[in-house]
Amino acid sequence: MTKDWLGGTTIFAEMSALAARTGAINLGQGFPDTDGPEAVREAAVRALRDGKGNQYPPGPGIPELRTAIAGHQRLRYGLTYDPDTEVLVTAGATEAIAAALLALAGQGDEVIALEPYYDSYAACIGMAGATRVPVTLRPRDGAYHLDLDELRDAITDRTRILLLNTPHNPTGTVLTPAELAAVAALAVERDLLVVTDEVYEHLVYDGAHLPIATLPGMRERTLTISSAGKTFSFTGWKVGWVTGPPALVTAVRSAKQFLTYVSAGPFQYAIAEALQLPQTYFDTLRTDLRTQRDLLCAGLETAGFEVYRPAATYFVTTDIRPLGETDGFAFCRALPERCGVVAVPNAVFYDHQKEGAPFVRFAFCKRPAVLEEAIGRLRRLSS
Ligand code: PMP
Ligand code: GLN
Repeated sequence: MTKDWLGGTTIFAEMSALAARTGAINLGQGFPDTDGPEAVREAAVRALRDGKGNQYPPGPGIPELRTAIAGHQRLRYGLTYDPDTEVLVTAGATEAIAAALLALAGQGDEVIALEPYYDSYAACIGMAGATRVPVTLRPRDGAYHLDLDELRDAITDRTRILLLNTPHNPTGTVLTPAELAAVAALAVERDLLVVTDEVYEHLVYDGAHLPIATLPGMRERTLTISSAGKTFSFTGWKVGWVTGPPALVTAVRSAKQFLTYVSAGPFQYAIAEALQLPQTYFDTLRTDLRTQRDLLCAGLETAGFEVYRPAATYFVTTDIRPLGETDGFAFCRALPERCGVVAVPNAVFYDHQKEGAPFVRFAFCKRPAVLEEAIGRLRRLSS
């Protein structure tokens, strides 16, 4: 088995180190430059002081958080999960992805992932000993789309899991209800498990988030993954979760107990409260990020990039060819020196490196003044 993740550094760590070294504005790794709500931070402090979660919390997560997660799924999407058997708290979505793949896929199994795919998918499919089968999302009419014929053709007798990610990092695309329905129909027809990474569920600016688990025949074959990092702007707390039918959640818990066992004790109490924040919190988060998206997209256009305006997430994918560039890696490595900005080359998220070569991702989860400054610097590229 080739362990192609060994010895490497993730592109996010590499680019954040480059930003730190050069003093460039970091629009590479996706983390907000403003912390989440004060009330949530205070809830964590209170839990620490009250001795809540300072010792190992229960393996599946504290009951308060599991109940809050189940309540969130019911209130938002009409999905009912039993907090005791169908909800599992993990060390961020990252551990949920790892544990799901380790538990459910193995030697001889194929896992279909949408390409460009989040970097940990490839590593974890490899760690599970399974085979990655990418299905490429391609830009058309200014946005990225799934080719359903390609997906159908990628499914074989060895396919075990469809690993979805919607809203999608790095393209910012949201699978349409029609695309999701077609994926669901294929999953049912071919009896596949679906693992769906929905960490950007609350960061949708155009349209609405639709969990695939809500579609007919899907609840029983779907593990849904999410995380507090993006929704509450505390990416360092690493509180994530999985919801799904008992047998699948039990399988994930079995793997998880040997990865971290438990994590983030006091933060679990804080996120249990955060999930019950009033709707105005979620609306403001979305409105602010939409403004930041519009600001950065417009700025990147004036700087000469072709922009694929994201419907969701806090990332925008651009094409650098209008700037006379073709190699996103070389472009990103030189960018701090050329104009003091850091971005991420999308090629790292591809098996088909050529498909991803001219695309570069910028994060807009930064204060508007920071984005303005970055735009001013990027304009130097074409002047
Ligand atoms: N999935 C996707 C698509 C992501 O962009 C990220 C990055 N934050 C994660 C999972 C990991 O989430 P967490 O920080 O909760 O582990
Ligand atoms: N999800 C973040 C991104 O896509 C990075 C998280 C990480 O560094 N692992 O930028």
